Amino acid sequence: MIKQKAFPVEPWAVRETELDLELLAQTESIFALSNGHIGLRGNLDEGEPVALPGTYLAGMYEVRPLPYAEAGYGYPEAGQTVINVTNGKLIRLLVEDEPFDVRYGKLRSHERVLDLRAGVLRRSLEWESPTGRAVRVASTRLVSFSQRAVAAILYEVEALERETPIVVQSELIANEQPPQEDGDPRAAAALAAPLESKFFGNLDMRVMLEHSTRASGLTIAAAMDHVLDGPGLADAKSESFEDVGRLLVSVDLAPGESLRIVKFLAYGWSSRRSPPAIVDQVAAALAEARHRGWDGLLSEQRSFLDDFWASADVVIDGEAELQLAVRFGLFHSLQAGARAEQRAIAAKGLTGSGYEGHAFWDTETFVLPVLTYTTPRAARDALCWRHLTLEPARERAASLGLKGAAFPWRTIRGQECSSYWPAGTAAFHVNADIADAVARYQAASDDEEFAGGAGLQLLVETARLWRSLGHHDAAGRFRIDGVTGPDEYTAIVDNNVYTNLMAQRNLREAFAAVQRHPRRAEELGVDDEEAAGWRDAADEMTLPYDKELRVHPQSEAFTAHERWDFDGTAPDQYPLFLHFPYFDLYRKQVVKQADLVLALHIRGDAFSDAAKARDFDYYEPLTVRDSSLSACTQAVVAAEVGHLELAYDYMREAALIDLDDLQHNTRDGLHIASLAGTWIAAVAGFGGMRDHDGVLSFRPRLPPALGRLAFRMCFRGRKLLVDVGPGQAAYSLLEGPALDIVHHGRRATVPERRALTRAIPPLRARESPSQPPGRTPGEGSAR
Ligand code: BGC
Repeated sequence: MIKQKAFPVEPWAVRETELDLELLAQTESIFALSNGHIGLRGNLDEGEPVALPGTYLAGMYEVRPLPYAEAGYGYPEAGQTVINVTNGKLIRLLVEDEPFDVRYGKLRSHERVLDLRAGVLRRSLEWESPTGRAVRVASTRLVSFSQRAVAAILYEVEALERETPIVVQSELIANEQPPQEDGDPRAAAALAAPLESKFFGNLDMRVMLEHSTRASGLTIAAAMDHVLDGPGLADAKSESFEDVGRLLVSVDLAPGESLRIVKFLAYGWSSRRSPPAIVDQVAAALAEARHRGWDGLLSEQRSFLDDFWASADVVIDGEAELQLAVRFGLFHSLQAGARAEQRAIAAKGLTGSGYEGHAFWDTETFVLPVLTYTTPRAARDALCWRHLTLEPARERAASLGLKGAAFPWRTIRGQECSSYWPAGTAAFHVNADIADAVARYQAASDDEEFAGGAGLQLLVETARLWRSLGHHDAAGRFRIDGVTGPDEYTAIVDNNVYTNLMAQRNLREAFAAVQRHPRRAEELGVDDEEAAGWRDAADEMTLPYDKELRVHPQSEAFTAHERWDFDGTAPDQYPLFLHFPYFDLYRKQVVKQADLVLALHIRGDAFSDAAKARDFDYYEPLTVRDSSLSACTQAVVAAEVGHLELAYDYMREAALIDLDDLQHNTRDGLHIASLAGTWIAAVAGFGGMRDHDGVLSFRPRLPPALGRLAFRMCFRGRKLLVDVGPGQAAYSLLEGPALDIVHHGRRATVPERRALTRAIPPLRARESPSQPPGRTPGEGSAR
């Protein structure tokens, strides 16, 4: 989309200068607003036309059965599905007696702008009704970062040319009609009318609707209030019914006169609180929103984002499109997690119902590294959410005959929601991914309270899982058999290198944590023998190696498998899982997404430089990137092993995944892991940042397309700015005391108040590996 002329590229805004209904589904995702608690898709104010109406609350779901043709022990039987809750975005407009609808009459102009610094979506348009009455409409929408339960809309309509009777209907609607399903298994299983009315009421310009879900038993209230400003003042009347509440405002506008409506929205839900208590909670949030006023909410929004950008901005001197995409990715990563506050951060954030609103390992492996170093409090909250779900994870482990906690492959509330399938059920690596995120957050934050509490318990329970899932063989080596690694085109394999190395880190971190917190560890039932068992398993971890090829097989025997027939695969047969049977993918060398290559990044401390280079070159021609969780990792490792131009192409792919709809499913919601991965590609790729064992190291090196890369990071109470040019890097502290770092293998100290400048050693050029035919990054995209 961004390649089209309707999308001029700007550094701080996604602007669309013409409305293209063909792109509506995609732009609804792109223009989605969220604070991590409330999510509003970028649906048009008047509600229609619409591709996928979407209003979401983090953690709000309905239960649906997971049916099987054949029963089997331990199959999850109930899934959780995100629901489209009460829509408060709606503002319908009647011009004379014609409903404003862009499909009728004449749309003279239409512009939407997602402003990344103000944190608002602006829309302005001029429309002429079929009977020739013209109006100018401007709306600004925000989902408040400062008031977690609040969203607000400023809506202005002006009569042009002739006196015009206007009716504005500001609405709350529950149980909106779901769209038709399109057959892609990744899209949500739409639920018809999931909400049952509990209460409705209206008073003056306030309306409240309360509902509960039928099976999951959650109660949600949504309320709106208004402030009007207009000539004469408009006649306003509110009404409410079970599934609809509205405020009707009628006014006659002379040419040049306008009606201005501020709509405040408040949402709340709970599984425990009583319906009257939730009504009160939402009424209070609404009163607070009104008290702040439109200007107050707007200025709080701005200052929240000013703080965010001061800790997180990435400046790129190169393609303008990439600069915008990097900030767009950061903005949506923040939106996904900022105020999630102990609820799941879903793979699509709150931008669409794709993947049924489930959270996966995407959160810990791709989103949390970004939040840890830019918005540490949000990273902590996300880990506390995992901690809150320990109980179902323990139950799941017990039902699988395992010890400790088995965190779900996909979930909203903590229960496993992946129906049985090899790539999900056996993808135990999610446990080590959580442990890795815990260790990273602790090392970057010095948060002792977390480390001795939730952090310790997460490390202990995940270490217990590994110890019971793996075993020592006759030679004493520790094996983890029958698991699925990140690559979903290879399933139920022995000793997946990524899984084993991540489990090793998990076991070591747990061992170290119990040494630091012996009393708390004892309370968790850990004794010396158990901890020693973790240490021994870690020390004896099996790491398969193919001596002949001198590469690491992704898992045992992988390199002996037949190669996928890439030459015989047509470009339109990707993604492969929609065109070929899984059993065939499983038995061939074909990689859906970075797996061994992800190990080269996250456990880079376990590989020599030479091994990294050989392994990367081996996996490139096999990796098809049928998942969006791949390009950013390939960018990082390509940069490390010296393929800077290739790394750049991968970074672009990660960055433009949604702006260019590269996977053709942005309509279902944004790919938050890839958007967050753009930051990873910049910072860990061209900045060469690594955080092994809590030491910050950098190996910055720019590709020819970039003249400069500057990024900021929060680290143990400091704010660090790293500014990389072609021949040198400057490190300076914007806040906090001197910091020890490593630059291209040499220790150095960044002093307070002065920049540390270091030269970048020259790179030995190496020939870049190739990708499967048709899967080269950037192929076909404008550069
Ligand atoms: C990927 C998984 C990922 C999921 C959600 C799948 O296509 O293979 O690794 O967790 O999407 O983003």
